[in-house]
Amino acid sequence: MYRVEELMQVGKNIYTYTISTDVDEQFIDITYLVREAIDKANIDEGIVTVFCPHTTAGITINENADPDVTRDILVGLDKIFPIDGDYRHFEGNSHAHLKASTMGSSCTVIVSDGHLMLGTWQSIYFCEFDGPRNRRVIINTISS
Ligand code: ZN
Repeated sequence: MYRVEELMQVGKNIYTYTISTDVDEQFIDITYLVREAIDKANIDEGIVTVFCPHTTAGITINENADPDVTRDILVGLDKIFPIDGDYRHFEGNSHAHLKASTMGSSCTVIVSDGHLMLGTWQSIYFCEFDGPRNRRVIINTISS
């Protein structure tokens, strides 16, 4: 089971979490961590940016109702970027770099009345593609 460490405030409205992933690839719903940062920053209206400072992990928003959706995204990415593709990168983890770039390293969500304006079925996911590792997620809230 993955572990999430306590939120740390590293700037006026900048917070960071350490996530210890426990398998090679996984999606972790981090929406509650983003909500916690919004509560701490006490913003009513604005935006929140969630950033992943890693080259083999990413951030994306997708469905939270059926866990098979994130499973299917992993399966789909594996088809496009197989582990044994024609890569040159000496580390041997090009598949993870490609998947991370496809998902992207950040997302921004609008905050209204202190709440994330996500759709009913949307969650914010941390995407591990080269675990298990200790990862960091950085959250910046900006009041409008
Ligand atoms: Zn690499």
